[in-house]
Amino acid sequence: MSVRRILPAGLLAIAVTLSAYATETATHSPPVVATGAEWTRHCTKWDKWDKPGPPYRIHGDTYYVGTCGIAAILIVGDDGHILIDSGTKAGAGIVKRNVQALGFSLRDIGLLLSSHEHFDHVGGMAKLQQSTGARVMTSKAAASVMASGKDAPGDPQFGMHPPMAPVHVDGTVSDGETLALGNLRITAIATPGHTPGALSWQWESCEADQCRMLVYADSLSPVSGKAYRFGDHPDYVAAYRAGLERLATAQCDILLTPHPSSSGMVERLSSDTGLENSSACASYARSIGVRLDKRLARERAENDGR
Ligand SMILES: [Zn+2]
Repeated sequence: MSVRRILPAGLLAIAVTLSAYATETATHSPPVVATGAEWTRHCTKWDKWDKPGPPYRIHGDTYYVGTCGIAAILIVGDDGHILIDSGTKAGAGIVKRNVQALGFSLRDIGLLLSSHEHFDHVGGMAKLQQSTGARVMTSKAAASVMASGKDAPGDPQFGMHPPMAPVHVDGTVSDGETLALGNLRITAIATPGHTPGALSWQWESCEADQCRMLVYADSLSPVSGKAYRFGDHPDYVAAYRAGLERLATAQCDILLTPHPSSSGMVERLSSDTGLENSSACASYARSIGVRLDKRLARERAENDGR
């Protein structure tokens, strides 16, 4: 098993060749694929995290394989597939069934990635790692949480979540880094804030000659435990804002989010334009920026009132 790191001239992106991780050649018959509209017949605006929903094709090689309430994204390659997020421990069973319902083999998944290190998105990662034999790669901050199964003190929601089954993390990725698995390329965008290790992901997907840039933008909501104040952590807030800016300016034709409800997936899939909207990422990032401003203002007001 070899990892080849390539530093393209003039670019900061590092390509990591992971083709050796695929355990077998990806062979599959064409799947019977549901449409997004069909998905909305099973799933509603605010669904439970572990409510089963059918998988559907988002665009080209990219499929939604999550539950109704929590996303999991499958990107199908010639030499192994990429799966982002597992859902909860129970939700991972639905994710597995959805991948298989599309006609793909779990053992063809070569790379498991994450949005952020909370149990609703990576609580089932250990289960998926076992079923797929895939490499797990995540951010440095998320790696310690996923490897131990315990949340980190720097997490605004520290102490609020149950422990997770530990995952063997095979490697870490940093902001702007591009991972390659066979013909697939995917780039990490560090978007800390909701958690220290939060990542968003960007990749291109083509359907014939119709190529679109997809972005799986992390949750990013400024929520916390009672004692935590974002205003007490200026460096963290600065990194938070920098991530929002990167997201707002990223090329993005199709926005996906770990909680489908946070980007109105049901409403968008039911609309005439569907998920395609090249300003959706910028709007999403800006709306989170407004929430962060409000949160900081509230903290200041609470402080003044003491
Ligand atoms: Zn979360």
